[in-house]
Amino acid sequence: MLHDIYTRPLKDLRISVTDRCNFRCTYCMPFDDYEWIAKKELLTFEEIARLAGLFVRLGVDKIRLTGGEPLLRRDLEKLIGKLSSLNGLEDLCLTTNGSVLAGKVAALKSAGLRRINVSLDTLNSEKFARIRRRGDLAKVLEGLFAAKRCGLHPIKINVVVERGVNDDDIIDLVEFSRKSGFALRFIEYMDVGNSNNWTSEKLVSKKEILDTIDARYPLREVGRDKGSAPSMDYEFIDGQGEIGVIASVTEPFCSTCTRARLTADGKLVTCLFSATAYDLKVLLRNGAADEEIVEIVSAIWRKRADRYSDKRLEAMNSGRGYRAKDYKKIEMITLGG
Ligand code: SAM
Repeated sequence: MLHDIYTRPLKDLRISVTDRCNFRCTYCMPFDDYEWIAKKELLTFEEIARLAGLFVRLGVDKIRLTGGEPLLRRDLEKLIGKLSSLNGLEDLCLTTNGSVLAGKVAALKSAGLRRINVSLDTLNSEKFARIRRRGDLAKVLEGLFAAKRCGLHPIKINVVVERGVNDDDIIDLVEFSRKSGFALRFIEYMDVGNSNNWTSEKLVSKKEILDTIDARYPLREVGRDKGSAPSMDYEFIDGQGEIGVIASVTEPFCSTCTRARLTADGKLVTCLFSATAYDLKVLLRNGAADEEIVEIVSAIWRKRADRYSDKRLEAMNSGRGYRAKDYKKIEMITLGG
């Protein structure tokens, strides 16, 4: 198995299939003047499937499709079909904003998708409009229930919690999920990219999120899936469902991070907070053999020394403080969330 310099294996691959998004979420992509990746630079489904197969050879057993908004990529089910037949891949999932999910979920399921994450930060339509800056809450809810009717399981709802924005929606979301059979994943607001003007004041910590929920619906810790998942999971003591919290800021999990990311134009990124990427598309389009690509990816992973969130916490606790804007990072919309 392939390990980096901190002996972390390569196990997960997040593939961005497009940087296009029909939302402009304040915490992710609050800007309009962005240079979109040109169509001819996007990896084709054949190229993605070839690279995915090589990553699986190197030890990856889980792939998540993301973006941008992955469901804006036409015929995505064709890619799902190719990936779901990869030998050695145990888990294939998708993260979506849900806006066009209702019309596509049946095709995705038939192609081999078994589970899904849908991002939804509030059930209040005015607030939804303020956070998302585009789109329609009703469509997202329609998508969620269509996924449920189709039999996808589990269906997880990703909630980014931002102080003064939706920290008062936590219990509403918990009650909605408990009633409807969805699993919630609360995500601490992160300083991904440079355009969301993150400050630590906007952060609602894992502890605060858990205290809020536990006071109303007592929880019991379950642990991290496979010991290395980003989410720490909890179940409700009354047996009515589960939640998870991804505490990248207050409880970083760099030491168990086994994730690589592939951008829509074929660049390999080894940390969500990276400033650099390695161009694999050039290799593909210059006719590199599989063995050559495997060697190059292996060499990149063996040298991987990223531990951005650990360092952020060290800086936040050090008294010298942490200023997100001092660190140049690739935008979330480009590298895939
Ligand atoms: N468009 C899809 C969606 O909305 O789910 C997939 C891409 S999105 C970048 C992937 C995930 O990243 C979403 O769940 C989103 O909420 C999360 N995300 C984006 N910006 C974030 C931030 N600053 N902090 C924490 N999570 C963030």
